This record gives sequence, C-alpha cells and structure tokens, in this order.
Amino acid sequence: MKKKIWLSPPHLSGNELYFIEDAFEKNWITSLGNNINEFEYSLQSFLKNDSEVCVLNSATSAIHLSLIMLGVTREDEVVTPSFSFVASANPIAYCGATPVFIDSEKDTWNMCPIALEQAIQDRITKGKKPKAIIVVHLYGMPAKMDEITAIAKKYKIPLIEDAAEALGSTYKGKACGTFGRFGILSFNGNKIITTSGGGALVCHSQEDKDKAVFLSTQARDNAPHYQHSHIGYNYRMSNIVAGIGRGQMEVLNDRVNARRKMHDFYVDVFKDIEGVNVFSEPTEDYYSNHWLSAIVIDEKIAGKNREDLRLAFLEDNIESRPLWKPMHLQPVFADAPYYGTDISEKLFDNGLCMPSGSNLSDADRERIEKIIRKFFS
Ligand SMILES: *Cc1c(COP(=O)(O)O)cnc(C)c1O
Repeated sequence: MKKKIWLSPPHLSGNELYFIEDAFEKNWITSLGNNINEFEYSLQSFLKNDSEVCVLNSATSAIHLSLIMLGVTREDEVVTPSFSFVASANPIAYCGATPVFIDSEKDTWNMCPIALEQAIQDRITKGKKPKAIIVVHLYGMPAKMDEITAIAKKYKIPLIEDAAEALGSTYKGKACGTFGRFGILSFNGNKIITTSGGGALVCHSQEDKDKAVFLSTQARDNAPHYQHSHIGYNYRMSNIVAGIGRGQMEVLNDRVNARRKMHDFYVDVFKDIEGVNVFSEPTEDYYSNHWLSAIVIDEKIAGKNREDLRLAFLEDNIESRPLWKPMHLQPVFADAPYYGTDISEKLFDNGLCMPSGSNLSDADRERIEKIIRKFFS
C-alpha cells in the first residue's frame, strides 16, 4: 500500500516541545502560566484590531461561550449558515435555542446576505427577532463582510464570526475573526495550525475577555472558599496545550503560504480541464488562507462526478472529502427553519475538498496530479 496522503494533517514546527518542557519545568501545567499568556498575546498581535483573546479547549466551546455571553437562552433563535461544519450550529442547541439556517451565495459559498435579510425580516414578522448571527468563513474564504456587518448593524443583532477555518485570512485587509462582537478560532488537529485540540474566543474589550476567562474556569466568585453565583464551564485551555500553540504561531505565516501554494497547484492542474472550477477569491478584497483547496465539478461538461474522483483518489490511498453537507438536510436539524434555495445543496452534490496539507512533498503532488489527469482523460 502506498503512503497515505491525508486531507489536512497536523504540521508541527519542532519548537512546540521546548514550550511544553518549559511548562513541565516550572510545574505550570494547568490553566495558568506563561504559555497561555504568550499564546494569547501572539494571537492578539497577529489579529490586531484591539483583539483580546481567551484561549479555550475548543472552538465549539468558544461558540457556546459567545452565545452565553450574548444571553442566548431557551426559546431564542440564532441565524447561521446551513453550509458549515456542525459545530457552528450545535452550540445553539446547547443553549436550548433554535438555529435558523441560511443558504450560501455563489461567490464565497458563505452565508448569502440577501437570504440573511429575508430571514431576519420574516422571523421579526413572526415575533422572533434573532438573538445573534453566526457568520462562517468556510475553507478560509472570507464571507461578504461589508453586506453582513451592515445587516447586523441595521437590525441591531450581535455578530459572532466563526473563523475556525480562517486564521490568516483577511477581508479588505482586516483579519477574519475580528469583525464581530466575538470571533472564534480553532486549533483542532486538521486546522491551519493546531494545539492538538483547542480554540479561542476573540473579544474586543478587557471586560468581555475577563468574563470569558471567568465563565470558562467554573465561574468562581472572589472568595477564599468556593463561592458561585453563575453557572460556569470547564472550557479553558491548559498551559501545556498552549505551549504547542506558541510553537505553531512561529510558523503560522509559512503555513498560510504553503496552503495558498496548494491552491495555486490545483489552479494550475485544472486549468486545461473543462467543467472543473477551483474555489478561488472572487475579488482582491478577499484573501483566503486556503485552509482547504476545493473544486466543483460540472458533470454535464466534465462527464465525471466528484464521488468517482473521490474513489479514484482513495484507490491510491489519497484522502479527499465531499464539501459540507448542509445543516438543513441533516436529520438532527430537520425541524429548523431554512431560508434560501439549493445553492449549498448543489455545492454538496458536486464539490470535493482536495488534499491541502502544508507538509505535502513534490512527490505527493505528483501522485495527486497523476490521478487527476488519468481520471479526466
Ligand atoms: C473545526 C470547526 C469548528 C470546531 O472546532 P473545534 O476546535 O474542533 O471545536 C467550528 N466551526 C467550524 C467552521 C470548523 O471548521
């Protein structure tokens, strides 16, 4: 069997162990310590825009905390794109609230601003003004932020930005994750940088950050004994894990460049293949980290479908994956309201995520290209 080529494997810098050892030496191995402070500080310097970062054990918990901090509770509704990973929507259910799903638009595959506004107006007519909007930047591609932030402002609904896949992406030069009241980052094993597992809540005031730290460490009041007046959570990142993050921050820019080179590689491979579109920035306002390179196959023109390409890759021990299956088609969210047409559904039917790792070798790329050429010949 040939060596496996993964979709998006972890890519360590080699310096992570140094920071982990430092935590061990100082015996700071829990939820306080230099690695946490320095990791948060380096994220803040990277994101700019008065970011106050609270590192957590996952992006899923970061989304949950952001909803809690916005007061989302039972009977509330939260608007979110249908075309995303399930972790964008699950925390809404954790709050006992209902997700309202919005279709994608064709340029960025992200939440359609037109469908978003229609949904908000319709929910208001039904007496249910959404409590929050979660926008997602899928595969690193920034959403249409001018339009979406304008709608959030117009209806005075707070914006949460799920930038789990978009660390290093910018829209009009501004870092993804810094547009909303809260931004979300993920350091899961398959993301552009990893801490093995972890996430962050990006805030814009010391008050919000302090509250996030408080809620993520069991909401302990200031007293010598254990005193509690709020429901808390055990969501804080450990100082060991944050050491991995420090090592990864040293190479974040390299990782973004390498992922963007993978995108360029696919643009080049597919330039002569008709009926295949490589997912790319619609204008220069958008700068994607190209966390995952993705293609859409027009079967009528290409005479091939994405499932057969996936199987052709698999036969050569190469991992690829269909695009996200929309949430409004998931059994678990069958009853949730949905606004839009079939854009996300068509993306799911015809799209494929390609091997996108920042640590692929020239030999790996040759293998990938060979399969593609053979498949479409
Ligand atoms: C990965 C991901 C998450 C969840 O991240 P975790 O850190 O694994 O909890 C949330 N939203 C999106 C869009 C993601 O891709």
